[in-house]
Amino acid sequence: MNQLRVHALRSIPLGPGPVIYWMHRDFRAADNWGLTHARLQALHLGRPVAVVFCLAPSFLDSAQPHFEFLLRGLEETEGVLRAAGIPLFALHGEPGTEVGRFAHEHEAALVVTDFDPLRIKRRWVEDLQNACAAALHEVDSRNIVPARVASDRREFMARTIRPKIRRLLPEFLDEFPILPPHPHPWPGEIRPPDFSALKRSVRARTIPFPHTPVRPGEAAGLALAGEFLDTRLQGYDQRNDPNRDVCSNLSAHLHFGMVSAQRVVLLARDRNLRGDNVDSFLEELVIRRELSDNFCLHTPDYDAESGFPAWARESLHKHRKDPRPAIYAPGEFEAARTHDPLWNAAQTQMVRSGKMHGYLRMYWAKKILEWSPSAADAMRTAILLNDRYSLDGRDTNGYTGIAWSIGGVHDRGWTERPIFGKIRYMNYAGARRKFDVDRFIRSWTNDPNIPL
Ligand SMILES: Cc1cc2nc3c(=O)[nH]c(=O)nc-3n(C[C@H](O)[C@H](O)[C@H](O)COP(=O)(O)OP(=O)(O)OC[C@H]3O[C@@H](n4cnc5c(N)ncnc54)[C@H](O)[C@@H]3O)c2cc1C
Repeated sequence: MNQLRVHALRSIPLGPGPVIYWMHRDFRAADNWGLTHARLQALHLGRPVAVVFCLAPSFLDSAQPHFEFLLRGLEETEGVLRAAGIPLFALHGEPGTEVGRFAHEHEAALVVTDFDPLRIKRRWVEDLQNACAAALHEVDSRNIVPARVASDRREFMARTIRPKIRRLLPEFLDEFPILPPHPHPWPGEIRPPDFSALKRSVRARTIPFPHTPVRPGEAAGLALAGEFLDTRLQGYDQRNDPNRDVCSNLSAHLHFGMVSAQRVVLLARDRNLRGDNVDSFLEELVIRRELSDNFCLHTPDYDAESGFPAWARESLHKHRKDPRPAIYAPGEFEAARTHDPLWNAAQTQMVRSGKMHGYLRMYWAKKILEWSPSAADAMRTAILLNDRYSLDGRDTNGYTGIAWSIGGVHDRGWTERPIFGKIRYMNYAGARRKFDVDRFIRSWTNDPNIPL
């Protein structure tokens, strides 16, 4: 395994106990570099290895169905790990502190954990460091080229990170090693997690479980990836038409780490797929996705107006007092009660299916800017709704996509206009030119009398 994937957060002589892998972003047994590193270290030391997961009492604006999706997938992962001789322990409480306590009690030789640039995760890892003195390694299993290796600065746009990632891809796009069942058994009692109790203990906001076409878990995610590559990828050039089902729909699995993006690229390579559709898909899956982690890694205020580039902040500031055609409160946005039937249908799609079409996400966020008192308010509303309703929300892709739409992140300045300043503008007439807007509205609203 390429050791550049491993970032030592604390290097000290290794303790006498087992190796522990704390899973908090990459929820999968297969194709997981963090788990692979933990297993290889345990094999080398002749020690047992365990996976630890901790259910936090809340996580950003996650709602009940997001925890359920995660726990249903994790139940499958636990079975795969068990068959490989690796127990999974489920803890409860403040994750960093609880995992630290577990590692301390078991005199862990080494704790391995996932890389995640979100502020809440950085705090969890700090809590872990305060709660236990073991050696600590962070492994980037989310990106093919580890974010810390790809670039040591905030990249300006896709054009600037693309050559860096392309140059490093041959080095990092390698196959995952196949390891034998772990030969050193866990010494103490193993109490398998009670997933029903875990689900019951979640205290998040209740929203209806979305009518999602995707099922949680590693097997379902891999099946979805294969089905997409074999069939729908052929129509990927139609991806900006929200009426067509040509996108991968992999974002929920990728967000929860149930599928590795690297595995999806390897699957495409094994199939010897070539052409514009494959290139466009890999641009999204690799370049845009890894750019999002770069943005959040190097922008601590990735979810605020202060994280926008200077030209965008200045331009939005200049237009802050421009009259708005309408101003809506967050609750009105949430209830899809705006004057724009397309916006309402997009919001309804997100609430009912747990996913809004990618093209409409841009329109949706830009209209929130247009109909909010300020860009800061627009950021808060868009992030709240995206995180609360999207299965793939609470993700670096979400914060970056919203900052792109509202704050010009990774974009350039466009012709100046009211409210938006130099931020790229989108409107209803433009959407009508791109796709059958009426058909989309009909699909997501049951009211045939909605004014168009
Ligand atoms: C306002 C806004 C909010 C967004 N919120 C999220 C979010 O919460 N979570 C999320 O995963 N993506 C988000 N995106 C990015 C993108 O819209 C979704 O990843 C995509 O719609 C997911 O559908 P898919 O898996 O079928 O995409 P596909 O087109 O099949 O793409 C495959 C994968 O590539 C990645 N990808 C695609 N487009 C982008 C992009 N623009 N930036 C970064 N990665 C991309 C995703 O991981 C996606 O699953 C957001 C974009 C915008 C403009």
